[in-house]
Amino acid sequence: MCSFHHHRYIEPSASSISVRRQNGTELIFWSVDETCDLCKGEPAPWCEKFCAYGALRVMP
Ligand code: SF4
Repeated sequence: MCSFHHHRYIEPSASSISVRRQNGTELIFWSVDETCDLCKGEPAPWCEKFCAYGALRVMP
């Protein structure tokens, strides 16, 4: 959904946020790069709104 906010298409490599799981472990790494605009113009940050597990919370 992050890439959809920016470009109106779904493409993980075009997202500001990335999440990856380390193979063989339960470790998950995520990062947000400088292109994140906190979903300017949207009613709410989409990475938080559409996370199926409620794992993200964007702090103002
Ligand atoms: S708030 Fe989340 S969905 Fe919105 S631009 Fe930033 S990382 Fe992407």
